Amino acid sequence: RRSSDLLRQVEHSQKLSSIGRLAAGVAHEINNPLAVINEKTGLMRDLIGLRDDFPDKERFLLLIDSVLKTVMRCRDITRRMLGFARRLDVTLEEININDVINETSGFLNQEALHRKIDLTLDLDADVTGIVSDRGQLQQVFLNILNNALAAVPDGGHIDIVTRGDAEGVSVIVRDNGCGMSKDTMACIFEPFFTTKKTKGTGLGLSITYGIVKRLGGEIGVESELDKGTAFTLRFPKHPKHEA
Ligand code: ADP
Ligand code: MG
Repeated sequence: RRSSDLLRQVEHSQKLSSIGRLAAGVAHEINNPLAVINEKTGLMRDLIGLRDDFPDKERFLLLIDSVLKTVMRCRDITRRMLGFARRLDVTLEEININDVINETSGFLNQEALHRKIDLTLDLDADVTGIVSDRGQLQQVFLNILNNALAAVPDGGHIDIVTRGDAEGVSVIVRDNGCGMSKDTMACIFEPFFTTKKTKGTGLGLSITYGIVKRLGGEIGVESELDKGTAFTLRFPKHPKHEA
């Protein structure tokens, strides 16, 4: 089915973004020692080049060239890794949160229809525009809605509510699914925490949390076992600290 393809894509991009950030961190750390190797090796080449009486001079200069070329190759690799991670950066634009929610829930309509799940949107027509990142907001709502779909039985309910005010917008995503225990609730934002065994990656909410924070927002959760769960998100008109 198309919707499960999409969900697989989202899970894939979640994995990519955590791996990407890790890779960028490593690439960044490796650049400094690489620069030191480059500099010291260059100095060795200059010192040997200046001496006429250095034994095996030509051979040493060839070996040093090969070290320098290899350092260049490593630098290309780290540069490419950093370039890959940069594409995960925040791109800010003026956004209507209702549009993002319409788009995102649209992706899941098929599955909701198929499982007779009632997906209700109650969108405040007067929400103010916020400055945020469309792609990352989509990711946030896909993660939360994906979890809600997994939590509700066939015929269940998922409600999405938006409310705007002078300082920003609030979004509530409520489901009448399986709910969570207090112990589970305490762990859900941790990377790799999942109760779904092999079906879950445990990355969705940890990535969601990171994105919401980067966009200057807040995320909270209320849940009761066997009753349901509500995620409350808050986004300011402008992210305070740009990432
Ligand atoms: P995953 O979905 O791969 O398990 P997430 O980070 O998205 O990872 O979620 C972590 C855990 O939080 C889930 O395994 C589940 O136990 C719990 N959870 C998240 N959303 C809900 C929800 N709407 N209802 C019940 N439990 C939820
Ligand atoms: Mg999930």
